[in-house]
Amino acid sequence: MASSRLLKIGLIPGDGIGREVIPAGRRILEALPSSLGLKFEFVDLHAGFQTFEKTGAALPDKTVDVLKSDCHGALFGAVSSPSTAVKGYSSPIVALRKKLDLYANVRPVKTVMNAAKPIDMVIVRENTEDLYVKEEKTYDATDGSGKVAEAIKRISQKASYRIAAMAGEIALRRQKIRQAGVPSIHKGPLVTITHKSNVLSQTDGLFRSTAREALALAKFNSVEVEEQIVDSMVYKLFRQPEAYDVIVAPNLYGDILSDGAAALVGSLGLVPSANVGEGFAIGEPCHGSAPDIMGQGIANPIATLRSTALMLEFLNEEEAAAKIYAAVDANLSEGKLLSPDLGGTAKTEDVVQDILRRL
Ligand code: ATP
Ligand code: MG
Repeated sequence: MASSRLLKIGLIPGDGIGREVIPAGRRILEALPSSLGLKFEFVDLHAGFQTFEKTGAALPDKTVDVLKSDCHGALFGAVSSPSTAVKGYSSPIVALRKKLDLYANVRPVKTVMNAAKPIDMVIVRENTEDLYVKEEKTYDATDGSGKVAEAIKRISQKASYRIAAMAGEIALRRQKIRQAGVPSIHKGPLVTITHKSNVLSQTDGLFRSTAREALALAKFNSVEVEEQIVDSMVYKLFRQPEAYDVIVAPNLYGDILSDGAAALVGSLGLVPSANVGEGFAIGEPCHGSAPDIMGQGIANPIATLRSTALMLEFLNEEEAAAKIYAAVDANLSEGKLLSPDLGGTAKTEDVVQDILRRL
């Protein structure tokens, strides 16, 4: 008999459709076959704009404390961003990443295999440094240039090494998930290192050489490693997206590439993500709170279901993750029960039911 493992999962629905899709994540975890030996305990937690309006804190201390001390992972829905700056309010997910040292942002982008241009890739973005250290200054030039503004682009060996090693692990795990029967266009694990070291020989040069070093570890022997300059990568991403399996990138390039790649699959409602640190992962659909469709019961739950599977991957539960991916892919390939963002008429509940049935 398989031994049983108890996983405690924090649920942070946030605002808008986050409240409609996060419950689907919980339900799919509860519906996993008992043969996997997994048990789940859920903790309801708060964050977001509504929480801010009620309590004055967008990310209450309690949410952080419970995640830190009591949870293996979490699901995060979405938070509304007020259109004009509100005093005292800042994004709780950005704060959470800092407080839990979630140094990687992981974004899989996948179409169905019978798409005209099938895609199955994941972008692994470093999330703590690069231009996002936000060390900027403005001064008056003495050479007639007027005002000049400068920003620091910081790249460290430590951050580059751990993000590349994570990309290697992800490539190996994706291979296992394919072997567990989830359809894919790829035959073997491949990591592509993104950089612009032809121009930025020191910063991007360090990222590139450190990533190479991390991926040269013996455990990544079966992983093919290639590299590409970021601008030519954008070109190829749009022309030949099937060429990519795992892309690893410094913060800014990763940010741009992951939004670009998400545009290739047709709806934000399909794209998952995970914020990952040492032994902790938060699954988060890529979409926002979608106020335009909120309350109608038509939000696509797939981004959340895939984020749930992705969280499981980082808790080393590949088999459970593979079951969810396969059920989602089967729903999409059949194409009968699709939500309106995909051209269908199904409600959130219909899509969830169909996918649960396929588990
Ligand atoms: P926010 O400020 O919270 O990001 P937004 O107005 O930018 O909100 P998004 O959530 O980013 O809205 O969504 C952009 C568009 O994609 C909207 O038209 C939204 O309805 C649609 N969309 C996003 N997520 C989903 C989903 N899960 N299902 C269906 N449509 C979605
Ligand atoms: Mg948005």
